[in-house]
Amino acid sequence: MRDQVNSAFLYDEKWIFRIIMNDKMNLIISCMDYRIQDAIDDAIDDDEKFVIMRNAGANVKELRNSIVRMIKQGGVKRIKLMPHSDCAAMKIVYSALKENKHYDAVIYESLVEQFNGKNFNSLKELEIINRAMQYDNIKGLLDENDVGKSIEVESIFVNTEKLRYYQRNGSFVLSFPVSAKYSDLFNKIGKIRGSYFLHSLDIDDLAADMIIANKLVGLKKLFLLYANEEEKETLNEHIESMKKRDILGNDIAVEMLQNGL
Ligand SMILES: [Zn+2]
Repeated sequence: MRDQVNSAFLYDEKWIFRIIMNDKMNLIISCMDYRIQDAIDDAIDDDEKFVIMRNAGANVKELRNSIVRMIKQGGVKRIKLMPHSDCAAMKIVYSALKENKHYDAVIYESLVEQFNGKNFNSLKELEIINRAMQYDNIKGLLDENDVGKSIEVESIFVNTEKLRYYQRNGSFVLSFPVSAKYSDLFNKIGKIRGSYFLHSLDIDDLAADMIIANKLVGLKKLFLLYANEEEKETLNEHIESMKKRDILGNDIAVEMLQNGL
């Protein structure tokens, strides 16, 4: 286990080097929701370099280590934070704190706990709190790492009522952060239109989100999206480990896909 963690860590460092190198780019942090791919594409200017990380709720707390490692490389010039309305992650928080619904400890610690003691009486109010809280979390992280003045943070709230989106397809996609527009990905790989998307530098940080996708949302098909053989192997190791730890059910169907971009 120890060796596995170390090899994943070394791989992640190589990943940072491969993607960031000397380019300054925008880091987009958003929710895994299947409806917001077009909105994320729309937030990307054609001439800008970017990298996308997503989890349940655009939850900065969980992505903290990944974000710090990226900004320490000096490759990030702006962070775009993109939470959205009608968010399933906020429904989980709401039901846990207002209706005493019980969730797995990993979900509680990664997502729910940070809203303890916050004052809200509706899902809409909770979404407003989440938007402000994740923004403050990012600002705090940047200040702690002495880059608060050099990296801009932009908050873009996605209203799902106004979106056109693909039909949900019952699957989710796991990968390292992506640097491709979803429209380009979908043109290459049509079957991931309508999927939920999880991307992080540290795959183990997505444990709560994997449980949410597989067991709570009920998605039984998982696509592992990889750029090269090394990523493929690393993702596979993580999936085997997650099955053993019961983060993923044994009934999940896993398919490997090369992103080709
Ligand atoms: Zn969401």
